[in-house]
Amino acid sequence: MRPASALAALMTLPALAADPAVVANPFFAEWKTPFAVPPFAEIKEDHFLPAFKEGMARQKAEVALIAEAKTAPTFRNTIVALELSGQFMDRVGSVFFNLTGAETNPKLQAVNRELMPLLAAHRDDIQLNAKLFGRVKAVWDARATLKLDPDQARLLERTYKGFVRSGAALTAEQQTRMRAINAEQSNLGVSFGDRLLKATKDFKLVVENPADLAGLPEGARMAAAAAAKRAGLDGKWLFTLDGPSIWPFLESAENRDLRKRILTGYLERCNQGGETDTNAIVAKVAALRVEKAQLLGYKTWADFVLEENMAKDPKGVYGLLDQIWKPALEVAKKERAELQAMMAKDLPGQKLEAWDWRFYAKKVQQAKYDFDEESVKPYFAVDQVREGAFAVARKLYGVTFTEVKGIPVYQKDVRCFEVKEKDGRHLGLIYVDYHPRPGKRGGAWMSSYRSPWVKDGKQVDPVVVNVCNFTPPSGDRPALLTSDEVQTLFHEFGHGLHGLFYKGRYRGTAGTPRDFVELPSQVMENWAMEPEVLKLYAKHYKTGEVIPEALVAKMNKAAKFGQGFATVEYMAASLLDMDWHTLTTTKPQDTAAFEKASLAKWGLIEEIPPRYRSPYFNHIMGGYAAGYYSYIWSAVLDTDAFQAFKEKGNLFDPATAAKFRAEVLSRGGMIDPAQLYRNFRGRDPKVGPLLEKRGLK
Ligand SMILES: [Zn+2]
Repeated sequence: MRPASALAALMTLPALAADPAVVANPFFAEWKTPFAVPPFAEIKEDHFLPAFKEGMARQKAEVALIAEAKTAPTFRNTIVALELSGQFMDRVGSVFFNLTGAETNPKLQAVNRELMPLLAAHRDDIQLNAKLFGRVKAVWDARATLKLDPDQARLLERTYKGFVRSGAALTAEQQTRMRAINAEQSNLGVSFGDRLLKATKDFKLVVENPADLAGLPEGARMAAAAAAKRAGLDGKWLFTLDGPSIWPFLESAENRDLRKRILTGYLERCNQGGETDTNAIVAKVAALRVEKAQLLGYKTWADFVLEENMAKDPKGVYGLLDQIWKPALEVAKKERAELQAMMAKDLPGQKLEAWDWRFYAKKVQQAKYDFDEESVKPYFAVDQVREGAFAVARKLYGVTFTEVKGIPVYQKDVRCFEVKEKDGRHLGLIYVDYHPRPGKRGGAWMSSYRSPWVKDGKQVDPVVVNVCNFTPPSGDRPALLTSDEVQTLFHEFGHGLHGLFYKGRYRGTAGTPRDFVELPSQVMENWAMEPEVLKLYAKHYKTGEVIPEALVAKMNKAAKFGQGFATVEYMAASLLDMDWHTLTTTKPQDTAAFEKASLAKWGLIEEIPPRYRSPYFNHIMGGYAAGYYSYIWSAVLDTDAFQAFKEKGNLFDPATAAKFRAEVLSRGGMIDPAQLYRNFRGRDPKVGPLLEKRGLK
C-alpha cells in the first residue's frame, strides 16, 4: 500500500472500537449538524482530553508512515502527506481553543493545564523527528528538478523552513534543550492566561452612593446597576475592568478618586504579588525566548520572528516606528497642554494625571468640536452596525449574509450567518459573539472553527467567528456602540472575510505574516465612518432616522483630536514589546525595572501609560511577541490600500474590489506579502497617507 492511501485509511472517521466512552464523545463521530458545525450542546469538558489524545496518537501513526517509508521521498509522499496529517486533532483543537478564549470555565482551564505540555511535546516529536526531517530535506534539496507549481513550491518552502525553525537541524543535545524550553514556555503561557483572567475578573469597583455616579451617561449607569444585580449587589452599581465598563467610566465620572481607583486597578493587574502576579513569568518567558533564538542561530527573538514577516528584521521595525513615534509624541504633548488648560478650570493648580486624560479629552472634544460621543451612540445599535459591515461586503464583493436560526451555538447570545457568493453558492459561515461574559477574555478577535482548503478535490467551506467585548444591551435598550466599538466590529469582520475568502489548495499556505494580517481587518475600518456608508446603517434605534450629516461631519472632525494619545499609547506598547524581544541576555530581567527603563528611553510622558504593561501584555505572551508593531505596519498598508478606492472616486469601485479580493484576501500566505501588496497596488506602500490621516504631519 502506498503511504498516501494508508494515511487516507487512518483518517477515515469513525475508526475506533465501540468503547462506550468513545461512542458518547462527539469528536469520534461525524457531525450531523447543519453545515457540520460542532454540536456544542453535546460537547462536554471531559470529551476534550481523550479526543486530543486520540488525535495525537493518530497523527503520530500518520507521521510514522511518512518517516519510515521505504520508497524514495517525493513531494506527494512526504510534503502533501504531512499536510494531510493531524486532521482529527485539528477538529478537536478548533473547538477547544475557541472555547478557552470565549467561554471558559475552571474545568476547561484544568484541561488546558494538562493538555498544553502534551501538545508541546507532540509538536516536538514531529518537528524534531530526524528521519522525517531527512525526507523533507531530501525533497527540498531536489526542488529545482521537481517541476512544482507555485502553490506546491510555497508549501514545500514553508514545510522545510518550519522544520528548521523548530530545531530539526540542531544536534541531539540542542534538541533536548529545545524540548525542555518548549515545555516550560507552554506551562508558563497557561499560567499567565489563568492569572490574567482571574486578576481582570476579580477587580470590582462598587459604588453605593448615587452622587459618585455624577457625569456618567444613562447607559453606563444602567449597565453598572445590571452588573451589580447579577453579582448579588442589588441597588448598587458595579464597575469592572471589562472595556464597556471601565472606558466610559474614565471618560465621564466626575469623581476623580474613583477614576484613579479603577485605572490603577487596570494598570496594576498581575503586578501586586500573590496568586495573580505575572512578573516572574514575563521575565522567564523573555529569557527562554532569547535562549531559543540563540540555539537556532539568531541574535534575538525579534530576529528570529521578523525574518518571516514583511519587516524582515528589528531595524525594519524600529525604522518605521521611529518615523511615526516622534511626530505622534509631539502631538500628544500638545494635547496634554490642552487638557491641562481645560482641567485648570475645574481644579486650578492641579497636575493632569493618567486618570484625568480621557475625562478631559472628552471635555475638550465637546468644547472644541461641539461633539459628544453619547450623541452618536443611538445610531450605532449593534445589529445595525453588523448589518452595515455586511452591506459593505455585499457592495464590494457581492457576498450576502443570512442568519441561520436554530444552528448549534456555544452560548445563547451567539448568532450565526450563512455567507453566500453573488450567484447564491454557499461560501461559509460566520458566528458573531459581541458582549462580555465572565468566562471570556478581554479584547476582540477573529478565529476559525473550520478553515478553507481543498480536501479530496473539494473546497472545504470555512466557519469563522468574531468574538468581542462590546457594550451590552441593558433593560429594553439594545446594545449601543461607541464609535471605537463600531470600528472594532468592522475590524474583526475584515479578519472574518480574510478567513472566508482564502482560496488556496493547502492548509499549510494559509497563514499570513503577522505584520500583513492586520491589513484585511484594518482596511475595513476605513469604510465604517465614511458618510456614504453611515447612511446605509447608522439609523437611530428608536426612530429609524439616518444619522444627520452635520453630526457625521462633527464626529469625523472630532476624531482627529486625540490621535496623538491613541498613537502614543499604542506605540509605547509596541516599543516595549520590541525592547523585550531584542534582549540578547538569557538572564531574567526585573520586569518592572526593565519596563521603566524602556519607556524612559523612548521619552514616554507619564500621563500616558502604554496600552499594555508587561504583566498583562497578553499579545506578546502569544503570537504577537515582536509583533505588536504589526498594527501600525498594517495601518500604513491599509491607509494606502484604501486610497486605491479613493483615487477611483468610488468607495465601492468594482474593479479595485475584485483585485483586492483576488490579490490580497484570497491569497493567505501563498506568496510573499510585499509582492502580494505590489500585485494589488502596482507599487510599494507609502507612509505619507497614514501620517496625514492621523494629523501627525
Ligand atoms: Zn486585528
